[in-house]
Amino acid sequence: MGHDVKGNLHRVLDSLPQGVRLVAISKYHPNAQIEAAYEEGQRIFGESREQELRLKHEALPKDIEWHFIGHLQTNKVKYIVPYVSMIQTVDSLRLLKEINRQAERCGRVVRVLLELHIAEESTKSGLTLDDCRALLEAGEWREMRHVQICGLMMMASFTDDQAQIRREMQTARDFFDEVKAQYFADDEAFCERSWGMSDDYQIAIQTGSTMVRVGTTIFGART
Ligand SMILES: *Cc1c(COP(=O)(O)O)cnc(C)c1O
Repeated sequence: MGHDVKGNLHRVLDSLPQGVRLVAISKYHPNAQIEAAYEEGQRIFGESREQELRLKHEALPKDIEWHFIGHLQTNKVKYIVPYVSMIQTVDSLRLLKEINRQAERCGRVVRVLLELHIAEESTKSGLTLDDCRALLEAGEWREMRHVQICGLMMMASFTDDQAQIRREMQTARDFFDEVKAQYFADDEAFCERSWGMSDDYQIAIQTGSTMVRVGTTIFGART
C-alpha cells in the first residue's frame, strides 16, 4: 500500500489537543487501511453509506465504534441501528423518530448529533438554526427513550476563504452554547461539537470542536 496511513494518523493525533477526538473517515477506503489505523489504536471510524458500513462492520473488529456521517434515508435506519455507535447526521424530526423506533426494537439507546446547515452552499444538508430551535422547542425528543442527543455536527463551506470557514464554525459554537443553556443545561451527555475535516480541522479546534472528522489526510484521496 503506497499510503502511509500509520504515519499520517499519528501526525493528525499529535496535533489534537486534549478533549478533541478523532473520527477517522474511512469511506471508500479498503479494510486494509482501516486495519492499519486500528493497529495503531484508532477505534472511531466514520462511514457515509449504509451498505458499505454494514460490510465493514461485519468484516472488521467488533470494538470499532462506527459513526454514520452521510445522508441517512429513514428506510435505511433499521440496518445500522443494531450496531452503530453514533449517527451524526440527524436532520429531521422524522429521522430522529425512526432511529428511536428502531433502537427500541433492538433494546438500544443510540447516540445522535443534530446536523446543522450553516454553510452557504445549498447542496449541503442539515437543519437551519431556526429549524433546529423549532425541533428542540417542540419537545417531542424528550419522550424518546432510545435516542440520546449528544450534540451538534456541521460541515463548513467548501472554500479557500479561511475567515468564512471560521465564521461558520463560530456560528455553530455560539449556537451550541445557546441550546446547551436552553435545553441541555443538566444533561452532561450533550457535549459534542463535531466539526473540522482534512482542510479545516485546525480552525475547528480553535472554534471549540470536540470531534474532528478527518479522512483524506489519513487515508489519501478517495477513488
Ligand atoms: C467525507 C467527509 C469527511 C472527511 O472529509 P476529508 O476532507 O476527507 O477529511 C468529514 N465529514 C463528512 C460529513 C464527510 O462526508
